Amino acid sequence: MRILVTNDDGIYSPGLEALATVAARFGEVRVVAPDVEQSAVGHAITIQRPLKYHRTRLGDFEAYRVNGTPADCVALGLHHWDGADLVLSGINLGSNVGHDVWHSGTVAAAKQATFHGVRAAAFSLALNGDDPDFAAVQSYVETVIRLLLEFQRSFLVNVNLPQHPIGLCWTRQSVREYNGWVVEGADPMGRRHYWFAAKPLTDPEDTAHGHKLRFCPSTFSDKIGI
Ligand code: MN
Repeated sequence: MRILVTNDDGIYSPGLEALATVAARFGEVRVVAPDVEQSAVGHAITIQRPLKYHRTRLGDFEAYRVNGTPADCVALGLHHWDGADLVLSGINLGSNVGHDVWHSGTVAAAKQATFHGVRAAAFSLALNGDDPDFAAVQSYVETVIRLLLEFQRSFLVNVNLPQHPIGLCWTRQSVREYNGWVVEGADPMGRRHYWFAAKPLTDPEDTAHGHKLRFCPSTFSDKIGI
């Protein structure tokens, strides 16, 4: 099993190595990820300039940093590896729920894999102000991957992990609204600049429409449509 791992936080984000570490329990791992953070670039691809690879050190993994977007990394990685059996994206620093999904480079990387006919999953970790503890969620990531690999058909799954998971359940994509607005400021030279900012207007929806589900493999299987 060949597993391509990427993210949108950049190749040196700790979530990427955490995901690659779990992925390595299932097969051969290759990491191809952006050289700098590409959060919120969505499904952008680079067509106005060439892309370049550089081999880089990331633990014991074969890893390459790319001067492109997450979707570029997946396209390039699959091209040079002559495909893969699975693409994993993340673990993103911050959840990807509601409208986040439209902007997310993490989810877009997984989506790009499906364009190539490769099964894919995106993983994101909710932040609560403390340093993220990826070790605490790695067993859940492993469980999700193992369950997904039971299915032969193509899939694109967006996985959101709380800091302290208590189980797994399927849910629909929420529609969380944000109050995106532009904040005007000035740089030290007095030149105007603008920051795009957004805060959620609503709390996250309750899991599975208000029902907290225990981990339930049969439910997991049923909802994937097999
Ligand atoms: Mn990100």
